[in-house]
Amino acid sequence: MTTFQELGLSQEVMKAIERMGFEETTPIQAKTIPLSLQNKDVIGQAQTGTGKTAAFGIPIVEKVDVKNGAIQALVVAPTRELAIQVSEELYKIGAVKRVRVLPIYGGQDIERQIRALKKHPHVIVGTPGRIIDHIQRGTLRLDHVHTVVLDEADEMLNMGFIEDIEAILSHVPTERQTLLFSATMPDPIRRIAERFMNEPELVKVKAKEMTVPNIQQYYLEVHEKKKFDILTRLLDIQAPELAIVFGRTKRRVDELAEALNLRGYAAEGIHGDLSQAKRLSVLRKFKEGTIEILVATDVAARGLDISGVTHVYNFDIPQDPESYVHRIGRTGRAGKTGMAMTFVTPREIGQLHHIERTTKRKMERMKPPTLDEALEGQQRVAIERLLNVVETENLSFYKRAAEELLEEHDSVTIVAACLKMLTREPDTTPVKLTEEPPLAVKREKKRGGRPDSSTRSRTKKRRMTAH
Ligand code: ADP
Ligand code: MG
Repeated sequence: MTTFQELGLSQEVMKAIERMGFEETTPIQAKTIPLSLQNKDVIGQAQTGTGKTAAFGIPIVEKVDVKNGAIQALVVAPTRELAIQVSEELYKIGAVKRVRVLPIYGGQDIERQIRALKKHPHVIVGTPGRIIDHIQRGTLRLDHVHTVVLDEADEMLNMGFIEDIEAILSHVPTERQTLLFSATMPDPIRRIAERFMNEPELVKVKAKEMTVPNIQQYYLEVHEKKKFDILTRLLDIQAPELAIVFGRTKRRVDELAEALNLRGYAAEGIHGDLSQAKRLSVLRKFKEGTIEILVATDVAARGLDISGVTHVYNFDIPQDPESYVHRIGRTGRAGKTGMAMTFVTPREIGQLHHIERTTKRKMERMKPPTLDEALEGQQRVAIERLLNVVETENLSFYKRAAEELLEEHDSVTIVAACLKMLTREPDTTPVKLTEEPPLAVKREKKRGGRPDSSTRSRTKKRRMTAH
């Protein structure tokens, strides 16, 4: 393990990192920061949650000359949420040194951005479209940029931003350092690297380094029809502070969020079909704790840094080991412990083993909880709330009434009634979820079956009712 001290960082940056609570570097940081400080081009390949932002953010802040009013570093990120998130992290790293960081993204009033650009930011974090817009208006001058970062490059590729990126790079001086971060390295990304980077060093952190040991990983064998009841029981027992439930499809996410609300949980869904504004507002509510459960597809949750997540529920087993690592990486961050529960239908056991082999970690089997256990779990929550009031509140006003009550009834009955009132008894309101076919596993087709009647067939849209 490498400490930040060993990297020879300035006092100002060390102080900022300390305030952020980072104790030691993550693997990608340990490898990238020294290279980047030597002005080498770096391709960083690592999964979400491995600390890539600080890996490029720390060298950027080190290299910025705050007395120079020109834009010196440019970070390109695929979405508005990511741009905001990255700029917040850069702001923190540069807070002591007083580095000015400005996010620019589509959807925000352009006049306001133009005014902000006139205040001499040192670092710009932007989405491709809006960066180009400003370049064309002449409101963004990049001729003093010495560092360019392409963050989540594969995501930008997926979103069709490759040409925009090329256009942006052609506006930055060739005498520059280029850093590229990506979870995967498809060919078009390699080509960008070849064309626009100068003998880049590849820093690769394997997925298994990421399944951090402080995540407890469990799986539960559950039949499709039982999944929802099991989920709500787990929620009742584990009483997560902040949880993410992953579903396989957008429809799944919508239905799950609705079903959770029906049973009295504060849940909202997030997926690619929602408008940026909606996604942002859901995320904000989640971060503030107004909603306790975020239901998400893989795509929607990718790259987003949501801290404080205590529990991840894979309602549907992920398609591939990489997504699994991505998903559970949402929890147990920054030294906190986390728990990940993966639901596996009998036909998906093979997929579970595939994930275990790739991550080289065994998931522990958890027995699906019973309704009684769920009730006990909620009772425990009620008892905690009650004891908390006993310890922290002034009860003198209530004591007379309590004494009178106890003259007529026995104390156990009274306390039991209080607990019953406080306990949110497991709700079994019937909900409707469209059945999700199990993941495609290589299995022989039945003879005489229609050629397309594979397990992935979406024709079986039966409605199921969970009780
Ligand atoms: P990535 O870009 O690789 O998905 P982020 O840069 O968003 O990851 O970092 C994920 C989380 O880990 C953030 O909350 C970040 O503040 C935190 N983090 C980053 N580096 C460290 C570190 N060295 N120690 C502790 N937490 C860290
Ligand atoms: Mg990132």
